[in-house]
Amino acid sequence: MSMTQIYLYQNEFVAKEALHISPEDRGYYFGDGLYEVIRVYNGKLYEAGPHFARLTRTAEALRIPLPFTEDELSAQLEKLIQVNELHEGSVYMQITRGAAPRSHPFPASAEPILMAYTTSYQRPVATLEEGITAVTTDDIRWLRCDLKTLNLLPNVMAKQHAMDQGAGDVIFHRSGTVTESSSSNVMIVKNNVIKTHPANNLILHGITRLVVLRLAKQEGIQLEEAAFTVDELLNADEVFITSTTAEVTPVIQIDGKAIGSGKPGPLTRQLQTAFEATIPSK
Ligand code: PMP
Repeated sequence: MSMTQIYLYQNEFVAKEALHISPEDRGYYFGDGLYEVIRVYNGKLYEAGPHFARLTRTAEALRIPLPFTEDELSAQLEKLIQVNELHEGSVYMQITRGAAPRSHPFPASAEPILMAYTTSYQRPVATLEEGITAVTTDDIRWLRCDLKTLNLLPNVMAKQHAMDQGAGDVIFHRSGTVTESSSSNVMIVKNNVIKTHPANNLILHGITRLVVLRLAKQEGIQLEEAAFTVDELLNADEVFITSTTAEVTPVIQIDGKAIGSGKPGPLTRQLQTAFEATIPSK
């Protein structure tokens, strides 16, 4: 089935082919903007509230005034899902500071530009079942990794590094302290206790991370928001990553070393099951 993709551009629904973005958009030459990816299960936005809260927080930090309220944006995204007949997948949205001749200071009168589209895909059942491999690498990013900005070059370079090594993803560390992955958060299990990096300026405050914290509590699993080392990572009983698209994905081998038994561990499985139960049905 081939269907024209409809994009949301500002307040209008426009066919992809008819969409024109200014070459002077600051997102294009400065990466001056922010984005969000919200999962859609059964045609419904998943955890929209926390995504909008993070969007608002990033916009405030970047001093990009949002041209709409949360309710307005939410209604527009729901409409976008409908017009594209999306059942399973996600909504990508970005907001840039606007278009203006290239000059570093904020332009006096730029209008922020919103663009959003939908992508259709299924849950990653194979990697959820089997897990992925990873390689550790230096976290060379800036000190505001808590902001979801368009500046993803270090993440892109790191992900390609993983691909070049034949691995599924990277695990970043700063001088031996594990932070997160290229597009997901990282959790380890040791002696039935989960550890994950505190939600400070060094990691993105993942929405899936939040969901898993909540689920761990519900399931009576002990969880510490505490930094851990690469050494602890490699010697963990279980490792998994969390993100909107990866959900709870086991990591079974890191830097060529098997994690635990080399198979997805029991607490990872328990959290995967608990996560599945949060997915809205029709
Ligand atoms: N860390 C980074 C660097 C990311 O890009 C993402 C994905 N947006 C995450 C963590 C996971 O966040 P979420 O669970 O909200 O998708």
